[in-house]
Amino acid sequence: MRDHDSLPAPVRLGSREQHLGALFEAVLTRGPLSRRDAARLTGLSPASVTKLVKPMITHGYLVERDREAGVPGRPQIPLQVDAERHYAVGVKLMEGELVGVMADLHAEVQSSHRLKYPDTSPEGVVDAIEELTATLLGRSPEAGDRLLGLGIGLGGHVDGEAGMVVHAPFLGWHDVPLQQLVADRMGVDVVIENDVNALAVAEQWFGSGSTFQSFAVVTLGVGVGCAFVLDGKLWRGASGAAGELGHMVVTPEGRVCHCGKRGCLEAMVGDEGLVAAMSQATGRRYTKVSQVVSAAHAGDQHARAVFADAGVSLGRAISTLLNLLNPPMVVLSGEGIAASDLFMDALRAEVDQDTFSTSARDCTLLVRPLPDETWARGAAATMLRQGVLLSLGRLSDEVAG
Ligand SMILES: [Zn+2]
Repeated sequence: MRDHDSLPAPVRLGSREQHLGALFEAVLTRGPLSRRDAARLTGLSPASVTKLVKPMITHGYLVERDREAGVPGRPQIPLQVDAERHYAVGVKLMEGELVGVMADLHAEVQSSHRLKYPDTSPEGVVDAIEELTATLLGRSPEAGDRLLGLGIGLGGHVDGEAGMVVHAPFLGWHDVPLQQLVADRMGVDVVIENDVNALAVAEQWFGSGSTFQSFAVVTLGVGVGCAFVLDGKLWRGASGAAGELGHMVVTPEGRVCHCGKRGCLEAMVGDEGLVAAMSQATGRRYTKVSQVVSAAHAGDQHARAVFADAGVSLGRAISTLLNLLNPPMVVLSGEGIAASDLFMDALRAEVDQDTFSTSARDCTLLVRPLPDETWARGAAATMLRQGVLLSLGRLSDEVAG
């Protein structure tokens, strides 16, 4: 703990910047929108919306569509975001391989590219990111002079605000200032973010999160990831360490986790845990989770029990999440959901049993497939969001009155 004298002063955005951001976000996520509907959705007055919209149209962020016919009263001209106003590169950094996308301002992927890299030192990774970006720019030349920058997503503890990879076990990195390294090399704006947080941002701005102010994302695969958007904001925690659902102890007598504790969710439902459980149950050596999935789909009772147990562990963790935060939606994603048919029944039963309040249990559980490109798109969305909000902030002086 630290004493409160050492706490930094909170950063406050001016209300004009906030209003520009809120208006842009409303048109982006709910548009095309009339000025009247934009006012209703943001709580701004129609007069304020008219003032705020003007510089956003002048600078090409918003475009007016054809007038809507048949609406009573004065005809309304719907506004929408100009997708081609800005682009961002998104990179998903994995062990030995990068996946990159070029995304427009609607976060639609224009092109994508994969690149293997042999050198996992920070220098080697920056080399690879530079090469990947050059390839993407070559494929989408229209993005060149409208590039907002690069978003980079990776697993592990990432302090996005400090631009620091605090700890990335898969690369063996501690305290690597990746944002600065890439920005210095390439001369563009860069944001780095934990990959699951980046997915949550993409979901918030460009997915089903746009209709929910609060939600959680849980990803399954080699590890278990988790991110929260609460009241419209990504919740990183005080130091970027929030969302470690994977290391919540769900089975105290369970397997030892790579973090050293016993019975973590990740040790029970991560790929390695599923393979170990199957090997133990059958006395045979399994090496890949795909073998366990195939066995379960072929009716093997041991394999089916492994996934049912995983569903119980996941249900325990998710019901704790519902009990603590009461989100209206949880998005379940990641490579691991390819086997969701094998564990969802057990998961739902456990959630029903363990969630305290019946209203907290009444949560939309969305199962969403997640190819590697979508992770990279999440990183691009993080850059788009930050870059656009900064650019809009610069317009605030042009808002009349
Ligand atoms: Zn653990």
